[in-house]
Amino acid sequence: MISVIQFLIDALFPPQCVACDKKLPSSARFVSLCDECLERVPIRNGFVCSVCGARQFSLINTCHGGALIIAAATDYTNREAQLLIHALKYNGSRSATYPLTEILIRYIESREELSTHSGFILIAVPLHKKRLRERGFNQSELIAKSLHEQLPDKFSYLNNVLNRTRNTPSQTEQKTHPDRNKNMSGAFEVVDPKEVVGKIIFLVDDVSTSGATIREAGRALKNAGARSVFGLVVAKA
Ligand SMILES: [Zn+2]
Ligand SMILES: [Zn+2]
Repeated sequence: MISVIQFLIDALFPPQCVACDKKLPSSARFVSLCDECLERVPIRNGFVCSVCGARQFSLINTCHGGALIIAAATDYTNREAQLLIHALKYNGSRSATYPLTEILIRYIESREELSTHSGFILIAVPLHKKRLRERGFNQSELIAKSLHEQLPDKFSYLNNVLNRTRNTPSQTEQKTHPDRNKNMSGAFEVVDPKEVVGKIIFLVDDVSTSGATIREAGRALKNAGARSVFGLVVAKA
């Protein structure tokens, strides 16, 4: 029965590349990228300072001493990455999670600091429960879970550890950085601190704009006793 339904779905909506509309093999996920379009997603070199956005070449030091560092796989200006993120967030196409995870894996494999170490913890940046109800799922959670499934030796996944206590307006609705910082302050709480004590944590999000969200979530985890906290995002805007 399942296969009949799958056959009908494939016949009516053959999988196609979200960027160039090329037909994909029927084994492909519904929303995906063809190999050529995946190759067009540039993989970033290095990391980003979450305060000023400057490029960093180490996970240890930042231009703003001690500021959280974000590992960003690609740029949000890239059309293919943007189409995938839109499909996931605004069209609810959960299968877009897989090519987004693939972009993250390509980046991780290219960075020695990430590829040669393991024992990291992934925590998704949570949505406030009101926004979670509206969207029906947390895109960051889908990406974090999928990355853990693809690289289980490198990344464990912790769920329900971090809570978003305030429903803050979308980052893009706020024009200036001081507004964003004020807006995010104290917006997260750690539900169970003993889960994070002494751990090296990567906070997963789809996109980072000003860095304020990840920085504030990271602060909550550090205060709860995490050893180190970094951001891990598909795209830096
Ligand atoms: Zn394509
Ligand atoms: Zn900086």
